[in-house]
Amino acid sequence: MLDVRKIRLILELRESGITNSKVLSAIEKIPREKFVSDTFRNQAYENIALPIENNQTISQPYVVARMTELLDVKKNHKVLEIGTGSGYQCAVLSLLARRVYTIERIKNLHESSNKIFEKLKFTNIVSKYDDGNNGWAEQIPFDRIIFTAASKIMNNEIFSHIDNDGIIVCPMVKKNKQILIKYKKKNNKIISKEYDDVLFVPNLQGVV
Ligand code: SAH
Repeated sequence: MLDVRKIRLILELRESGITNSKVLSAIEKIPREKFVSDTFRNQAYENIALPIENNQTISQPYVVARMTELLDVKKNHKVLEIGTGSGYQCAVLSLLARRVYTIERIKNLHESSNKIFEKLKFTNIVSKYDDGNNGWAEQIPFDRIIFTAASKIMNNEIFSHIDNDGIIVCPMVKKNKQILIKYKKKNNKIISKEYDDVLFVPNLQGVV
């Protein structure tokens, strides 16, 4: 039953303009139902965000696909994610990258996502419990950085954490909207471009 829904979801993502077949196949491979509670299991393949613990959300599959596509991840890449949440976006990235480092500021979510990573035997995910806004100093440089919480300002320091040709994708708060922004480092200059309107939980400081 879930399989039929999964195929339907992949078709829907294609129709919504997701064209990268590696991204679509990563989404097809990751069991989203394992990242949500039993209550929402039968909605796991609907193209909607769902609640997870601590009033946070697992992102909508379209948004995960879109951000992953914009991030343009290659097999040899080292990726940093800020906002592990359920762990779903991280799991999708782990199929496309060499290694994914992920940071979560809510201890309970850090622990529950780790349990899922262990259960599903992901060997190229490294996670930590921290405020992710300062990045992950010991692991600089990264090829790609993804924020999965809406940020009001981008700390310019983070651009020194990516290599030339590096990419950062982040939902940014602009007026009363949130917009996906892709930043690309080219010849040590940052070029930014705006994409879809999105709706994320806020990027907050400190840990809880
Ligand atoms: N990528 C997640 C999306 C979860 S929602 C998924 O696929 O499920 C965003 C998450 O970002 C929340 O869990 C929230 O606690 C976390 N977050 C918000 N601000 C953060 C920060 N400064 N550092 C680390 N995590 C943060």
